[in-house]
Amino acid sequence: MGRVYNFSAGPAVLPEEVLREAAAEMLDYHGTGMSVMEMSHRSKAFGEIIDTAEQDIRDLMGIPDNYRVLFLQGGASQQFAMIPMNLMKNRVADYIVTGQWAKKAAKEAEKYGKVNRIASSEDKTFSYIPDCSDLPVSEDADYVYICENNTIYGTKFKKLPDTKGKTLVADVSSCFLSEPVDVTKYGIIYGGAQKNIGPAGVVIVIIREDLITEDVLPGTPTMLAYKTHADAKSLYNTPPAYGIYMCGKVFKWIKSQGGLGAMKEKNEKKAKLLYDFLDQSRLFKGTVVPEDRSLMNVPFVTGDEDLDAKFVKEAKEAGLENLKGHRTVGGMRASIYNAMPYEGVAALVEFMKKFEEENL
Ligand SMILES: *Cc1c(COP(=O)(O)O)cnc(C)c1O
Repeated sequence: MGRVYNFSAGPAVLPEEVLREAAAEMLDYHGTGMSVMEMSHRSKAFGEIIDTAEQDIRDLMGIPDNYRVLFLQGGASQQFAMIPMNLMKNRVADYIVTGQWAKKAAKEAEKYGKVNRIASSEDKTFSYIPDCSDLPVSEDADYVYICENNTIYGTKFKKLPDTKGKTLVADVSSCFLSEPVDVTKYGIIYGGAQKNIGPAGVVIVIIREDLITEDVLPGTPTMLAYKTHADAKSLYNTPPAYGIYMCGKVFKWIKSQGGLGAMKEKNEKKAKLLYDFLDQSRLFKGTVVPEDRSLMNVPFVTGDEDLDAKFVKEAKEAGLENLKGHRTVGGMRASIYNAMPYEGVAALVEFMKKFEEENL
């Protein structure tokens, strides 16, 4: 049984080279006689793994010295609570609601303070990014929150909102390391690893140092204070060690591909192939306004639910897996993350052409 082209939104495809390397090191990591899974997180070998991983993501993203990189657990969803617990000094925050993940984050933050939803695209089922050039940012807002790439709906902020000087917090789970980024524009950039980086179980938080304080909301658990993890260099307790090791391998792989500039070029080329096909197709149609299209998640429909289901089934038989859209929106979605090769997207487009001929 060979490998399929896996279009899953997450957990998602990983670079084959990375998986092969991990397989080769499975029983004996670098002469230690044990797997990384079996090793103390306080060992010298693991210390080198986590330090190297941090340095590599710093190199890739150009992370300035006044930002910390934390490798945490609890998924992106745990950050929905951790962010307000740590940042809501005035108990006010502004949220831009561009999809289910931002909506969930806003709802969670409401447990801790006042949440102002200062923009939304829910009126058109999140098929676009609202104009964020002159928002009614609250005077006492502790931060402005966005979900930068909307995994379910396939939209992406091409321009960051004008936060009028307030701290920007961004969930980048599904666009992490997909293109160059100016870290200095954000207070916090965070994401779950299982979309574009590594296995599930790791969430990476890049946070500006001045936001790491002891002054958190009363009752904040020790494990949910950024300071706990920053002070202990992500080793306060047992971290998701194997996942961090895999993330580190992916960072090296991205470096070997030429870094984030090269990733962006490849991602644009892949996405263009699929969007260009969708734009001229007589059967399939993209669901997002062209100017806000994501490079990572591409939703599309035929307009007929039965035909969508037939497409997903036949695609699977042809080795193109996990093309079913999110359960809340239906249709199809192709997630074409960093590790999806151009050939995978080309195979999908060829299959779509054939399906269109047979079903029109
Ligand atoms: C998948 C996803 C989440 C949820 O991630 P978990 O790690 O499952 O909590 C949050 N935000 C975005 C943008 C996602 O794509």
